[in-house]
Amino acid sequence: MIELSRRDVLIAAGGLAAASLEARAMGAAPGRKVGYAIVGLGYYALEVILPQFVNCEHSKVVALVSGDPAKAKRVAQQYGVPDHGIYNYQNYDSIRSNPDIDVVYVILPNSMHAEYTIRAARAGKHVLCEKPMAISSAECEAMIAACKAAGKKLMIGYRCHFEPHNLAAIKLVKDGTLGKPRYVNSEHGFVQGDPSKWRLKKALSGGGSLMDMGIYSLQAARYMTGEEPTSVFARESTDRSDPRFHEVEDIIEWTLTFPSGAMASCMSSYSSGHNHIRLTGTRGWVDLEPATSYRDQKMRVRIKDDEHEVTPPPGPGANMFAAQLDHMADCMTTGATQIVPGEEGLRDLRIIEAIYRSAASGQVVKL
Ligand code: NDP
Repeated sequence: MIELSRRDVLIAAGGLAAASLEARAMGAAPGRKVGYAIVGLGYYALEVILPQFVNCEHSKVVALVSGDPAKAKRVAQQYGVPDHGIYNYQNYDSIRSNPDIDVVYVILPNSMHAEYTIRAARAGKHVLCEKPMAISSAECEAMIAACKAAGKKLMIGYRCHFEPHNLAAIKLVKDGTLGKPRYVNSEHGFVQGDPSKWRLKKALSGGGSLMDMGIYSLQAARYMTGEEPTSVFARESTDRSDPRFHEVEDIIEWTLTFPSGAMASCMSSYSSGHNHIRLTGTRGWVDLEPATSYRDQKMRVRIKDDEHEVTPPPGPGANMFAAQLDHMADCMTTGATQIVPGEEGLRDLRIIEAIYRSAASGQVVKL
């Protein structure tokens, strides 16, 4: 039986979350929480992120940016955001003169991430930007350059880097419990409905299931092995007569090859439900299903003949959303390096572009 202490979980992934702990130990400025502006009041902002600020130690919401003034006013009242903290997309740049705003959290359709990140940096604010970082690697590079030029931090909303089951799984790989990593499977998907949604419009999404869900499979392959892939081979299956898929792909699957010889078989889908990660090593495997959901992750481990469920202990850091928000806040106040900086999002976009090239050409693409 594998016992995982809270500290074990937090020091997984080469000190990923330990960096956060360290930053916390250094402490945010006493008495002042870091102020967030939330840009885009859609599903993820309203249903998932905003309700998490009550669980944060170092973060609070101080501003909202929305194209819908009535919604913004209602949400502002709900979360105690003052009237002067309400902005729209036209007057967004005036966040510059609001000293309450330290970090801008961009939760807009994918094609808007680059513009609103760059404008935030130019307005003198740090940025937490949702996944996928942008719709091209060129945009990612411009975002990194803008934040660097402004001397501001840029982090990507890869919440699984703060999720205890994922961290515990990474630890089992890193400490050799599973032996040498040989193979990763990762599948992510859900059934898309309304064809008019922005996720199904290429200009706004940049792509289909790969951009939205496949990025979790890709991330998993990279953080579970701890390696960067050297080549990719991809195939796509999309019924273009389906109104949902006139512009973007449905199923895409790809194989990654890593320098150690390990391989990953990944996929994403907009017509079937998946949420799974498994790494198999020379001594055993770790299996997460659901792996990257908002809650209720399950983790099973098999070492030789012993198979069992592993539950990371609850406690501080167990809430990935609050941990992510507070980590960004801590990085800002202490100068610590973000666990998932813009460069991490850029790496994924470069691989995503290669996956699309491989699927289109039928050729292996070297990375
Ligand atoms: P929604 O469609 O629910 O919300 C997007 C919001 O963006 C809208 O409500 C709107 O807010 C604003 N917006 C501005 N311009 C447009 C436009 N042209 N079309 C549509 N919306 C517009 O999307 P989600 O909240 O699901 O996703 C937003 C981002 O968050 C995406 O990048 C997605 O990948 C990411 N995400 C990340 C998750 C994670 O687990 N890390 C989970 C879910 C999403 P307003 O009316 O206030 O202007």
